[in-house]
Amino acid sequence: MGSTDRAAPATRGAVPTSARLFDEACAVIPGGVNSPVRAFTAVGGTPRFITEARGCWLTDADGNRYVDLVCSWGPMILGHAHPAVVDAVAKAAASGLSFGAPTPAEIQLATEIIERVAPVERIRLVNSGTEATMSAVRLARGYTGRAKVIKFSGCYHGHVDALLADAGSGVATLGLPSTPGVTGAAAADTIVLPYNDIDSITETFAQFGDQIAAVITEASPGNMGVVPPAPGYNAALRAITAEHGALLIIDEVMTGFRVSRSGWYGVDSVDADLFTFGKVMSGGLPAAAFGGRAEVMERLAPLGPVYQAGTLSGNPVAVAAGLATLRTADDAVYAALDANADRLAGLFSDALTNAGVAHQIPRGGNMLSVFFSETPVTDFVSARASQTWRYPPFFHALLNAGVYPPCSAFEAWFVSSALDDNAFSRIADALPGAARAAAQAVEERP
Ligand code: PLP
Repeated sequence: MGSTDRAAPATRGAVPTSARLFDEACAVIPGGVNSPVRAFTAVGGTPRFITEARGCWLTDADGNRYVDLVCSWGPMILGHAHPAVVDAVAKAAASGLSFGAPTPAEIQLATEIIERVAPVERIRLVNSGTEATMSAVRLARGYTGRAKVIKFSGCYHGHVDALLADAGSGVATLGLPSTPGVTGAAAADTIVLPYNDIDSITETFAQFGDQIAAVITEASPGNMGVVPPAPGYNAALRAITAEHGALLIIDEVMTGFRVSRSGWYGVDSVDADLFTFGKVMSGGLPAAAFGGRAEVMERLAPLGPVYQAGTLSGNPVAVAAGLATLRTADDAVYAALDANADRLAGLFSDALTNAGVAHQIPRGGNMLSVFFSETPVTDFVSARASQTWRYPPFFHALLNAGVYPPCSAFEAWFVSSALDDNAFSRIADALPGAARAAAQAVEERP
């Protein structure tokens, strides 16, 4: 899809229309955006207002074209406006947008997920990753009759009250330790522990073991930047939760069906009691899911007493987009995602090494991050200790050269299978200047 883009004029850097739209948006939408990270707060400058996306290319309201390395924060593994997905959505929409009643296609989507992730015997569809994790935590509490939940510093599970403490993603980007509006009561049963630290888990279970309903973890975190689990870490969480009668919730909203056709489960085979999914499984439309062992899932209403519901849950258009995405993503697509991530990481590493900038490029499968750091990043403390002040100039040099990176040092970079040689040429042309900008950055001290 990128073959025509070499010829396309790129008036890079000039964004008067986006600037005007941002002013207009700020007058009617808080901060001008419907999700905080989009406001470019961490990097400064004008958020680009996107008018069209095809393959791996984004077009903004000023006609600038960018190679997309964000992919709508993960879902668009096939690239944008993939014909198979667009056709499926058009067909579903022509048959009606929402019924508030069961549909045949939602059985197919549930089955598709169950066939890929062996511990999942039952699935319920919801509308966002936030809803999936919120519902999974409620179910874990209802199932165990216990209140406490362990989450890890730097992991983000959506904006669920009980899970916002010390969270990654936009909460990390904006430097918020927690947020007003979450009452002490809502957060009182949340225990936050450092990531990748089994001793702290063992000690906490020794103290509170019979009160802990669940441990929730990102399968391989991508919301403090990419910080993969140490070898054996997820398996150790599985063992200790089982020993104490607590549930393990593995959040695959970001990794699910991206890092392999079975998500991170396809990488480490750790059998959680509950999994949460989102992003790829809905092909870019609003749908998500949680699922797990039948015995646990059947505590949900209408079979059991744990209530959970949704007017638009299982929406037929979103289900069609998700099914088409999962079915189109064959082995060749996953091989392309991995190869593209390798190629991108290689280009980053070469450019930053040539510019003399210390860096780490951690990988969680085909997700990756760029940390400006001499030492490996293994948790939220080391992520925050990296030289994040080098990131804004690096970001803007790429953006001005027609490459669209994540607008925060604490986010993952996402590739699609649509990246091609033209796109990589643009990235390769942009990187030396971006690496120099990172090298020349100066830390501003208060
Ligand atoms: N869980 C993880 C691991 C995520 O990365 C996200 C969003 O980025 C969520 C949950 C929340 O999903 P949503 O933004 O769809 O509510």
